Amino acid sequence: MLRSLLAVLATLALCCAQSRTITDAEVEKVHRAALLIDTHNDITSRTVDGYDIGKNAGDGHTNLAGLRAGGVGAQFFAVYVAAGYVNGNRSAHRTLEMIDTVRHDIIDRYPNDFALALTADDIERAHRQGKIAALLGIEGGHAIEDSLRLLRDYYLLGVRYMTLTHSNTNNWADSSGDFDKPGVEHHNGLTDFGKQVVREMNRLGMLVDISHVADKTFYDVLEVSTAPPFASHSSARALAAAPRNMTDDMIVALAKKGGVVQVNFSCGFLSQATADAEKAQKPRAEIPPAKLADVVAHIDHMVKVAGIDAVGIGSDFDGIQCAPVGLEDVSKFPKLTRALLEKGYSAADIRKIYGVNLLRVMRSAEAEAKKSR
Ligand SMILES: [Zn+2]
Repeated sequence: MLRSLLAVLATLALCCAQSRTITDAEVEKVHRAALLIDTHNDITSRTVDGYDIGKNAGDGHTNLAGLRAGGVGAQFFAVYVAAGYVNGNRSAHRTLEMIDTVRHDIIDRYPNDFALALTADDIERAHRQGKIAALLGIEGGHAIEDSLRLLRDYYLLGVRYMTLTHSNTNNWADSSGDFDKPGVEHHNGLTDFGKQVVREMNRLGMLVDISHVADKTFYDVLEVSTAPPFASHSSARALAAAPRNMTDDMIVALAKKGGVVQVNFSCGFLSQATADAEKAQKPRAEIPPAKLADVVAHIDHMVKVAGIDAVGIGSDFDGIQCAPVGLEDVSKFPKLTRALLEKGYSAADIRKIYGVNLLRVMRSAEAEAKKSR
């Protein structure tokens, strides 16, 4: 009797939680009221070769019209330096070219649409002016060629975060991408110089990005960094067992330090089924894609384990082979807003996830830098 009563109650709860109608007008209102900051986009790997972000070629995830339709308020563009540039010491050369493509091919080419942002205040100012704040984040610590002087140069050119490693371990930090690769010399996390890099980033006010790093590197960063680190594009390992996703313990530890995890949209980092099929090297057509609901599940999982202040958005658009069904490109962000509202998230929750949390992390880094000046 009691059991059947409970079953009826559960069904009622299910019916009514799902039955709230979310109108398009509500989605629009909530979406436009949030300042959406996406902390990782790789369209730069194409603009550097001449791709025009202002034209909608229909063959990628990112273009200007799409960013506008998607209501993207601020975009961190990846200054991605592939591991191959380490050979022959070409990393700094590539870094400078990638910085230039953000400044020259995106911001200077479309000054009515993009404004370079160097601080949290700059992001809010650009947003008030109706422009998309454009920011730079280096991906791959080998970019500094083991020189704090180059790190400082990059800061002067506008770089506001650095992902300590890409999928390659460098001379001072272990990556999650090659821990079982023969011939790679590992350091058990950060070396002494790696710790100096983190401290210098703190002193400058450059965000320390722990996406891609090995777990031990992550915990070393937590110990050394005086400002809250963040993950610019990482998802939850509890839901998809990729080594570069974060365990619940890591997510909680980062949250305790005031940091934030920006959820990555790559199918293989969102869905275990996709990850398994990719691992089995099935042909692309036979790999089940992730869905918009998987993105919501990762956000929801992180909120449950670490709180609403610990989660953000780092799509990795144009850096990923497969984007979720329903969230195929930058124009589709309002669909995520609808899905979060349907899941029971409030407008205030969504504002936090979309930008308030990241602005807080930026301001903490800026305050930490001021202390040492
Ligand atoms: Zn990446």
